Order: sequence, then structure tokens, then C-alpha cells
Amino acid sequence: MNAYWPAPDAWQQALRTAITDPTELLRLLQLPPSLSDQDAQNSFDLRVPRALVSRMEPGNPKDPLLLQVLPSAREMIATPGYSNDPLAELGSNPSAGVVHKYRDRVLLITSGGCAINCRYCFRRHFPYQQNQLGPEQWQQALTYIGANPELSEAILSGGDPLVTPDTRLSRMITDLAGIGHLKRIRIHTRLPVVIPERVTRTLVEALTATRLQAVVVLHCNHPREVDDSVRTAITRLRDAGITVLNQAVLLRDINDSVDTLQQLSETLFEVGVLPYYLFVLDPVAGAAHFDVSDNDAQKLVGELQTRLPGYLIPRLAREIPGRPSKTLLTPDQTDV
Ligand code: SF4
Repeated sequence: MNAYWPAPDAWQQALRTAITDPTELLRLLQLPPSLSDQDAQNSFDLRVPRALVSRMEPGNPKDPLLLQVLPSAREMIATPGYSNDPLAELGSNPSAGVVHKYRDRVLLITSGGCAINCRYCFRRHFPYQQNQLGPEQWQQALTYIGANPELSEAILSGGDPLVTPDTRLSRMITDLAGIGHLKRIRIHTRLPVVIPERVTRTLVEALTATRLQAVVVLHCNHPREVDDSVRTAITRLRDAGITVLNQAVLLRDINDSVDTLQQLSETLFEVGVLPYYLFVLDPVAGAAHFDVSDNDAQKLVGELQTRLPGYLIPRLAREIPGRPSKTLLTPDQTDV
């Protein structure tokens, strides 16, 4: 083992030791326990890896990394238009663990767990128990994909698919590669950001040994989420020739400033990650306080366009249930 690759089980150790007690988190950050709300914690547990906590600023109750994970009393305020299934995914769920919303792509709920529980997550109420991909459901998923020749891409999602052990992931990728009409495999994950040791040698080998083109889409919302350990993890993926993109969610008081969005794009591009999407918030119950209006979002991205070249501008988008693709909110994204 050289320093380039982490120990194979280091990420599982980091998963096991993630902080789940708000009092412990707030004590480590020298903040009062009263900042966390018990009802919100009961409805969606706190979970945050220690590596991410080390990037939070002690003594700052408005730290943008902390606000993404801390249970807040504002989550318990019911807001009209906010629901448990904001993207109506349960209507596009042809078999357990399979979500088929867009013609040529299919999403596989590879895991119900995550390394981090993001308070704004649109799947925070998703019925993962009914969508587990056990051996039988996995065979059904493969049958479904095989019977739909228009599918060219399989997306491993969750939860976070990279909480799945490498041996199982490798088997899944091999099974998917056996379906002739699939061309690409995409992995949507926050693990390389919050537990960078997750980018193991066996994971990279599984993604490069397959005939399928592999794309990893990170989820990183703020430039302070990226430290040297994250840069190293991303470099391992990029050195192997894997395409790495980022999608972020526009969140009030976290990244709703043009300076922050500019830094995010530039920080990621320094390690070869292209900004892909900037999503406005999905109206999920408990997250209304993170919302940024479409008008403000468009102004922010318009300002960003005057500061960065077009390839560093993420596409501002919203997902609207029933539409055949994401809905872009900035049609006039000219290359400047
Ligand atoms: S699915 Fe993604 S956004 Fe949702 S809690 Fe997990 S890591 Fe966060």
C-alpha cells in the first residue's frame, strides 16, 4: 500500500464513527446544545462524518457546512407546496429499487443509507425499506433494464451508492455491463467529499475495468467542503480517466452568493471537476427555509456569467415531475 491509496477499510471506519448526536457535534464546535432541535432530529437523524466536521468553523453557528446537517426547529414548520415526495418518484417506480423518469436513463436505488444526512435532501422521506435491492429485486431490475432497449445509462443512486462495499459494487457493474444496450454507468455520490478515503483502489479498478464508460457526479455545495484530502480523492478518479462532474443545490444562507458560487466552480475545476448542475431546491417537507426564489437564483447565475467562462457555469435547473428532462432556468447561458 502506498500513500496514494487509502487503506481499503478506512472509509468504513469513518462511516462507523460519524457523528449522530447533535450535542456531541455542537460541543466539538464550541456551540450551545440549544442550537439543535429534538423534533427535527427525531424526524431525520443527524449524521455527519468527522472529516467534514473538521472543516467547520468552531464558534460559528452560521457555518455553511454546519447548516447543511444540523437539525433545525424551522424544519417542523409545515409549508404549503412542500411534500414528502416532491418529485413524484413513487409514480416512476416500476420495480423495487428502480426509478425510471427519463427515456434513456434509469436510476437504481443502490443503498438507502448515506454517510451524511443533508437536511434539504429531496429523498429525506423516501421509503427506502420498500426499495431495497436484495438479490431477487436486483434480478428484477436487470430484467427491467434488459427489456427496455432505449436505456443507455444506468445511474447508481441512493441514498449514496458508495456506502455499498466494493465487492458488491463490482458485481453490480459487471451485471450491468452484460446488458448490451447500456453504454454508461453513472454514480451520484457525496462520499468522495465527506469521506475521501472512499476512493479506494478497488473502487477505481471496478470503474475502469468495465466496458461501460464511468461518470462520477459529486455533490458539493460550498468551496470549504473541498480540502486537500478531497483533492487527492478526486485526483485518484481523474488519474484513472474517469469523468468527474459536480452538482450542487442552491441553498439560502449556505451558497446563495456569487462569490461562493464562483469559488466553488474554480475550486472544483482546479482538480478537473466540471460544474454540471446547480439545482434550485426541491420542495421537500422540512426544507422550506433553504429556498432561494427562481428570480434570485437567475440573478446570481447571471452575475456568475459575467465572472467565469461558460464551461465553469453550472446549468441552473429544476426538476418538475412528469417532464421528460430537467427544466433549465437560464436559457440564455452564453459563453463569455
Ligand atoms: S442522498 Fe445525497 S443529498 Fe440526500 S442525504 Fe444522502 S448524501 Fe445528502
